[in-house]
Amino acid sequence: MRDPLADLRRIAFLLERAGEKTYRVRAFRGAAATLAKLPEGELAARASAGTLKDLQGVGEVTARCVVESLAGEEPVYLRRLESTAGQDLDEATAAMLAALRGDCHAHSDWSDGGSPIDEMALAAAAIGHEYLVLTDHSPRLTVARGLSAERLTEQLDVVADLNAGFAGLGMSFRILTGIEVDILADGSLDQTDELLERLDVVVGSVHSNLKDEPDVMTRRMVTALANPHLDILGHCTGRLITGGRGTRAESRFDPERVFAAAVEHDKAIEINSRPERLDPPKRLLRVALEAGCRFSIDTDAHAPGQLDWLSNGCARAVACGVPLDRIVNTLPAADLLAWTKTHK
Ligand SMILES: [Zn+2]
Ligand SMILES: [Zn+2]
Repeated sequence: MRDPLADLRRIAFLLERAGEKTYRVRAFRGAAATLAKLPEGELAARASAGTLKDLQGVGEVTARCVVESLAGEEPVYLRRLESTAGQDLDEATAAMLAALRGDCHAHSDWSDGGSPIDEMALAAAAIGHEYLVLTDHSPRLTVARGLSAERLTEQLDVVADLNAGFAGLGMSFRILTGIEVDILADGSLDQTDELLERLDVVVGSVHSNLKDEPDVMTRRMVTALANPHLDILGHCTGRLITGGRGTRAESRFDPERVFAAAVEHDKAIEINSRPERLDPPKRLLRVALEAGCRFSIDTDAHAPGQLDWLSNGCARAVACGVPLDRIVNTLPAADLLAWTKTHK
């Protein structure tokens, strides 16, 4: 028996991975969500009566996929996607990708992501991750619905419940708690010390005053890296090289001082895998490598399919000669947490 809802979600995943427009992906995720709510037996009844399309959010294409799937066939739409979705990775990139055990930067619909926490988690587990660090935005990033201290506290309970559910199903996968906290103008972090202390992993990123003078930006980043709560410095230049949001120049800072601070405090520099970011540029990645930095190869996923973008970061790390033992997300969860605890 094929599961038509799993097929619809797989289609959405592949479309997201390919960077398709959100509305096309929503058609499939939306239809899956609608159909999941039907009483037992109604899906099959509607499929044979041809009335699936009468349901809100179910269109021609999604209805056809469901009918094919219920008949035990792989939907044609899915088959076409699967056959064109192969990633041509060279051997070294594939080996690095296989060595990664999780992803330390991902968003849910609690901030500006498009999917609920459980869907992000199940997608991460399905691609073989042992853990996913949930890093929704912090309060001052209001455009991205940053989480107040209250909402983040609430999220921690939700994550604990989800993890209990995964354990109950015998899954070894778990969600690690986290945040993508804004590095404020003075280098301080945009969340309470109490909460930052409770989180498993803290990614800190600059999202404001990106055009600070180099001296100011350097001081900001060095201050943030010295903060015991911060574990990973996210997308350090803030550049945008392509995509719907247009392009943005790199923030200017003294990379030698910033990377030396990361080494001094044993923090990691993120290698951000989003196609429009690919941050840091290889030139800076090499400087960080020579400085002796650790790295975290992350997707910064805002939708389940984007969790598969780690290969972008791996390809760049391989090109710059980053060894596996410098990459924190090659560590099992327990060792990753032991590392973040050394900062507290
Ligand atoms: Zn960010
Ligand atoms: Zn992010």
